[in-house]
Amino acid sequence: MSEQLKMKKATKGKGKAKTKVFGKKKKEKDSEAVIIDKLQAKYDSIDPSQITKFGDFPLTSATLKGLRECGYHKPTQIQKETIGLALQGKDILGAAQTGSGKTLAFLIPIVEKLYCKQWTKLDGLGALVITPTRELAYQIFETLRKVGEHHDFSAGLIIGGKDLKFERNRMDNCNIIICTPGRLLQHMDENPLFDCVNLQILVLDEADRCLDMGFEHTMNAIIANLPLKRQTLLFSATQTKSIKDLARLSLKDPCYISVHEHSEFSTPKELSQSYMVCELHDKVSVLWSFIRNHIKNKIIVFLSSCKQVKYIYEIFCKLRPGLSLLALYGTLHQLRRMDIYETFCRKQCAVLFATDIAARGLDFPEVHWVVQVDCPEDTATYIHRVGRTARYHRGGESLLMLLPSEIKMVDKLKEKKIPIEKIDINPLKLNNPVRKMEAFLAKDPTLKDTAQRAFVSYAKAVFLMKDKEVFDVQSLDTDSFAKSLGLAIPPRIRFLQRLNAKTEKKEGKFNNPMNSKSYFDKEDDAAGHFRNESEDSGVEEEEKTKLKIASIPFDVPQGDDSDEDDILKVKRKDHDIELPTEEEIADMSLGRSRTKKPVTKAAVAKKILRKKIVPNKKILFDDEGDATIVGTKEKKSELAREYEREDEAGINIEKARMVLREEDKFDKQLFKQKVKDKHREEKRKRKEKKKKEEEEEPKDEFGENESEEEPDLSWLPDPDKIYGRKTEEEVETLAEEVQGRSQQAKLPKKRKTEDSFSSQITAKKNKIKKVSSTLNVNEAEQLAMMLLNK
Ligand code: AMP
Repeated sequence: MSEQLKMKKATKGKGKAKTKVFGKKKKEKDSEAVIIDKLQAKYDSIDPSQITKFGDFPLTSATLKGLRECGYHKPTQIQKETIGLALQGKDILGAAQTGSGKTLAFLIPIVEKLYCKQWTKLDGLGALVITPTRELAYQIFETLRKVGEHHDFSAGLIIGGKDLKFERNRMDNCNIIICTPGRLLQHMDENPLFDCVNLQILVLDEADRCLDMGFEHTMNAIIANLPLKRQTLLFSATQTKSIKDLARLSLKDPCYISVHEHSEFSTPKELSQSYMVCELHDKVSVLWSFIRNHIKNKIIVFLSSCKQVKYIYEIFCKLRPGLSLLALYGTLHQLRRMDIYETFCRKQCAVLFATDIAARGLDFPEVHWVVQVDCPEDTATYIHRVGRTARYHRGGESLLMLLPSEIKMVDKLKEKKIPIEKIDINPLKLNNPVRKMEAFLAKDPTLKDTAQRAFVSYAKAVFLMKDKEVFDVQSLDTDSFAKSLGLAIPPRIRFLQRLNAKTEKKEGKFNNPMNSKSYFDKEDDAAGHFRNESEDSGVEEEEKTKLKIASIPFDVPQGDDSDEDDILKVKRKDHDIELPTEEEIADMSLGRSRTKKPVTKAAVAKKILRKKIVPNKKILFDDEGDATIVGTKEKKSELAREYEREDEAGINIEKARMVLREEDKFDKQLFKQKVKDKHREEKRKRKEKKKKEEEEEPKDEFGENESEEEPDLSWLPDPDKIYGRKTEEEVETLAEEVQGRSQQAKLPKKRKTEDSFSSQITAKKNKIKKVSSTLNVNEAEQLAMMLLNK
């Protein structure tokens, strides 16, 4: 997504902005230069202990006005300590508790620095702020937009999930960019308009996350593109002090500012924190009961994976707890995420189910509770999660649910100066919605599928956790956990079964090939079926089939997992434990061997050359099965063929243009021919249709076609026999009569209806009546006999 703002003067209109930025009178410019000189002269004498309000800093009137309008009057501790140093041009490592105002601590120096350098649109990119999540980038951008309202700079939000082309065309106009690492690197790689040679100041917000191994390659590539001569500011509640990380950024004598380092606790003192120990299968009912008891609160619920968030959100929506429910996770579309973020900000009481993408930096107003249903991967994640409440001197509460096997986490939290108290819950007061959940799942196969995915992804998340002292996937009671999710039959967690089998094999337990737990049927294996203990130990045949159908493989590519912006996933690549990679796990389950695929375009081209693959050739087979090679892109013009034969290095643009023009002529001809053929075909179809319609015209009362032929009257009795021989005159009149009738028959009868048929019949009947009335009895008898004979 990309946004661009033009701070105050620029928003007044393009022309006006130009005059303001580029057309300043010399006198005005001089006075600005004098102001800047005066401000800069005061930088060295800034004393944080003497600062009580923003006006005590030597800041421009535009910045002070922006701050005032946003309601910021007194700087927070981290702002007091860092703004002065940042104005002096120092590199900074800033650490302060969550919600303590770190954003302004770097935004104010950014706008001041660019102002003092009299930065204009022509100078290009002056400041770059990198954050780990899109929502956080958006939040920083919004703060900058408000605080920088009275400055002339333009700022861009570059966060992926939206129109890359739109961003691309505006990148070169941006003085300040707020971005996520993945999207920034994409622009650096692909966008010729992106230029950062003039960059003055680089900020990493949530620096430890930006620099961790999950972002390692992206960040290294970004840093390599940035000029060495710049100021660098790093901020986080859990600041990195890793020499290796800092060396990557080439910091120059960085000042380490940690405002809460010596405070008693590392989390805000207004935050009341508790934990409870509960079994895995009780988590859903505890959470449900908690929400039902706090319907007047604003709550954030953290779960470990996108699929869990999706399922719990969907099933709880169906259960109707009595307050708004929202879900925020990485695999949602970006616009949807923005919408959810803003909706939750506005709500007074609501529950937001989220993954760790909501853990860092987000400043949701007035959150009462943070509930961690799944244990965070480390203490830093815990601090960031609970930091979504009790922000800027406001109170807040947090609850952590721990499995008995995860209890060691409490010691780790206490080691990090986190005051956390144990609470017990009364199991009798729990309200278990599992029956209703089962009913919903029985009715809705898609929901059931989501539940199964949630189940497996939880196991996967635990399996991938780095801290094996706390997380033990083998200790999970998965059967009862599946039941608590409303699943009658626990889905198989194949990667675990295979892992068990591998371990057992290593330990020499793989002696008996019929040992159900470690037995792989080769064919089954290929099809992804693995026999487990229950299947081999007397479960009825039908049950077995059910088990197979119900199980969903962990490794099946799942639609909602395909998030193109991988920066939002919780990366656990940095774990130093020896684990199979996701690909390996997938391969294990699919029973396939992995061949290396070429990764670069050059490698693909080489491979094609090696295999002698001719591009743009399509082989068709005729009815006899003989191959006919069709060159769909074969050159038609002599000039083009000649051009192809030439073995010149590089591209002769002029000639290529001529070739294209020549080829274009053939293409146009081909196109014309195609249009003609199409018309011809249409005409043929129209004709065919007409013919068919004519054939299907309505039949007369005798089932004959109402054709133009004369009616067959041979069945009528011989009139000579009845009326005696007619004179020539009489014959003529009769002939005229008959002709008149047949003329009538020849008339178009398109719209002949049943009525006209019946009137014809009555007319005939009347005529026979008339004729027979003139006959004597004998003649009438004769006529009747003839008719009967006929
Ligand atoms: P941050 O840590 O930057 O996300 O800020 C946390 C909260 O504190 C946000 O809601 C800010 O609006 C608020 N805040 C930051 N600095 C100040 C300040 N100097 N005065 C009042 N509120 C502030």
